[in-house]
Amino acid sequence: MAGDGTRCVGHPTGEPGEPVHPGPVLSSTFHLGTGDEPYFYGRAGNPTWTAYESAIGALEGGHCVAFASGMAAVSTVLRLCARPGTAVVLPSDGYYVSRLVASEELAPLGVEVREFATAGSPASFAGATLVLVETPSNPGLEVCDIRALADAAHEAGALLAVDNTTATPLGQRPIPLGADFVISSDTKAIAGHGDVLMGHVTCSSAALAEQVTLMRTRGGAIPGPFETWLAHRGLATLDLRLERQARNAHALVQALLTHPAAADVRWPGLPSDRSHEIASRQMRRWNGVLRFTLPSARAVEQFLEASSLVVSSTSFGGVNTSADRRARWGDAVPEGLLRLSAGIEDTNDLVDDVLGALDRVRT
Ligand SMILES: *Cc1c(COP(=O)(O)O)cnc(C)c1O
Repeated sequence: MAGDGTRCVGHPTGEPGEPVHPGPVLSSTFHLGTGDEPYFYGRAGNPTWTAYESAIGALEGGHCVAFASGMAAVSTVLRLCARPGTAVVLPSDGYYVSRLVASEELAPLGVEVREFATAGSPASFAGATLVLVETPSNPGLEVCDIRALADAAHEAGALLAVDNTTATPLGQRPIPLGADFVISSDTKAIAGHGDVLMGHVTCSSAALAEQVTLMRTRGGAIPGPFETWLAHRGLATLDLRLERQARNAHALVQALLTHPAAADVRWPGLPSDRSHEIASRQMRRWNGVLRFTLPSARAVEQFLEASSLVVSSTSFGGVNTSADRRARWGDAVPEGLLRLSAGIEDTNDLVDDVLGALDRVRT
């Protein structure tokens, strides 16, 4: 397999005179022929999607279907698998909107919603049609064993979906580890510049991808061609961005561990982190997302006011370093827990800024 940088840029091909970098195809409708043409209407298919889906599918080793957002991808997989009288299993510490779709929309239809903590022992999978895991989880950065959970899910007759948003397709390849679906919010590191919402589902088989595609065509949760093109443009530099983000995260974690205001510093790439052993077995490389806890919500305010590089914003994986106090969104975490997403700033500038801002915390 070629290296990550080579795989991310791909190799443009074409006839002489054709564009090396074609722009987005914005047409909603296509010339009709005898019926075997690949595109006929923009809700069913578009060449800009095809290019993006081929690139992501190749990185993940499966069949990719692009969606308008990460939540469009998550809710499509949940709706595809959930049936009244059966169960779906979800992480209790995973992305909170995925849990809301299950509890607010599926449970009233007679679907049992079972939750389990990512780092805890798994719930029973008996009677489940789908097990959704998130590893590393958002925001806790806990890790679970994809291969073991895939085996357990399959034994119970359930499919396994892995929300791979935090890891990225370069950080982790769940399909070779046994997953049936990889779900991602490409809004985060893949598009990577904080200017587009996008998502995808990559399936282990063409048959599953066909079902997911049919649901997308009927449900209409389709990405715009321009957004797809922007995300594909971002993908080209994913390897470069991840490299700097991971280096920055590592340096920040080491600095945070020395500072008395920061507690419970977590990053799966850190050898002393309790997630490191499983993470290093199934992850290929690290990324820029870490977490730590300040003594209070007020301390977080002081830290963010004092920093000139850390942007207070939700979302992660962008070029600017950002931090989000997750308790404000209702996550069941301490008031002062910050998820921090290291950007691509110079490492020394970032560490100096963060340590300087932590020195200004007076609780
Ligand atoms: C952000 C996120 C989502 C939702 O993605 P959107 O693109 O915002 O719809 C789903 N899962 C995880 C882990 C996320 O971080």
